[in-house]
Amino acid sequence: MFLAALLLLTVALLSILVLDGIKKDQRTQYETFLAQQARTANLYFIQLSLGEPFVMPEEYLLNGGNELAEELDRVIGQLVVLYDKNGKKTGESVEKSESGDMETALFFALQNKTAYQTEEDSLYYFAPLVAGGEQIGVIRLYYSLSKNLDFIQNIRALFFYIGAGVFVCSFLLGYLYFNSFANGILKLKSMTDRIRSGRYDIETLPRKDELGTLGEGIYDMSRQIVKTIGDMEAEQQKLTLAVDKLSRLEQQQKQFIGNITHEFKTPLTSMNAYLDLLEMYPDDTELRGRAQVNIRQEAHRLYEMVDKVLQLSALEKYDFEYSMEEIDIKQIILRVCGNLKGKLDKFEIQLETDLTQAFIEADRENLVIILVNILDNSIKYNRPQGQIRIKNYIDSANVLIEISDTGIGIPAEAASKIFEPFYTVDKNRSRQKGGAGLGLALVKKLVESQGGTIDLAETGPEGSTFRLTFPLAESKVYNNEN
Ligand code: ADP
Repeated sequence: MFLAALLLLTVALLSILVLDGIKKDQRTQYETFLAQQARTANLYFIQLSLGEPFVMPEEYLLNGGNELAEELDRVIGQLVVLYDKNGKKTGESVEKSESGDMETALFFALQNKTAYQTEEDSLYYFAPLVAGGEQIGVIRLYYSLSKNLDFIQNIRALFFYIGAGVFVCSFLLGYLYFNSFANGILKLKSMTDRIRSGRYDIETLPRKDELGTLGEGIYDMSRQIVKTIGDMEAEQQKLTLAVDKLSRLEQQQKQFIGNITHEFKTPLTSMNAYLDLLEMYPDDTELRGRAQVNIRQEAHRLYEMVDKVLQLSALEKYDFEYSMEEIDIKQIILRVCGNLKGKLDKFEIQLETDLTQAFIEADRENLVIILVNILDNSIKYNRPQGQIRIKNYIDSANVLIEISDTGIGIPAEAASKIFEPFYTVDKNRSRQKGGAGLGLALVKKLVESQGGTIDLAETGPEGSTFRLTFPLAESKVYNNEN
């Protein structure tokens, strides 16, 4: 509206100025024209009066009457009215009724001045009639302004239509333009409102102007906020996990220390008891024999326990630098089996192998500890004259090792717990065998630190099968021969 009103005002001002200019121009034109006509009429009058040598120009004017006026009219083509120097009408070319009062203009003309008066579309031009350097009367010319007024009327109408057209067009264009801007601003507002309420799934503003650029900026900002929030949430999640893990570790640590204290105390109490008895009955040979066996057994168990606890706690505490190398699984299994030959023979256990050459990336010493512990359990929990079978094979990118025995098996409810530190299925039996539930916990940690996994593949009254999985060393070419 403002734009349209502004343009309308401009057109109105322009029209006033133009019309005023036209009017002034018209006035100058008809003033010049009528002055020229009056001069011509005056000259012609003098010429006519000279034709009458014995009549004075004043008399000639008085006597000329309507005929003189008609004569002048014929020459200049203008209606003519003549007055004497007293302002009395002496003749006129056409009788015409005059509505207005001409006294003032006539009065001026009688003072030897030029004056004119307009009435509607008529202009009455008064000029002094001069002869021999003296004013003898007044000549009045009639000029029709109708053409001039029509022209001005047409121009005014033209301006009116132009003004109306400009107003309507500028209003429409302005409306469309500002409406599109207002829509853009409203969309931007709804975008920011959405962000303020925590919803960042906004769309860009499909515009190519400054509002579009602003919209893009807001969109990018929302993406950045989403990313930052995502990062923060991920960090928070990591932190929560780390805190959980820490508190779990702390809990495990406490439990671990509690278990160690208990497990260490039991053999020491038993050894102390035997030492007290020996002090009391130094001559009892039977007691001495029993004490010897018991103290040796408990000392051995203590030694084993200290060894494993140290290894386990070292794993818990330090980030080991393993000396990783490519190891042929077949070779290392055969080596461990060779070391355990004495024990196998002692318990009359038969060992069967089905091995294939396969290379993995691992720490050699850790691999030996892993295999020794599993095989040691297979011997410990086997039946007399039982069997142990070791098999390895390659499956896609992994090497799998399966160690099966014909032992007592593991109850289903214990299967998930045997890898926890100090967990034993049967405390007494483990103690008799010199174990404290640390072997498999150590094995699991070592296997995982080599990038592998361990699980109890099968168990039952006929025996158990443990399965180890390690990723194949990439650089080697394998063959599946034993
Ligand atoms: P331990 O030193 O007592 O043997 P481990 O951590 O090596 O402790 O084993 C945990 C428990 O799992 C053992 O107490 C035993 O009951 C059970 N176990 C481990 N291996 C075998 C197996 N081959 N056959 C039967 N039971 C087993």
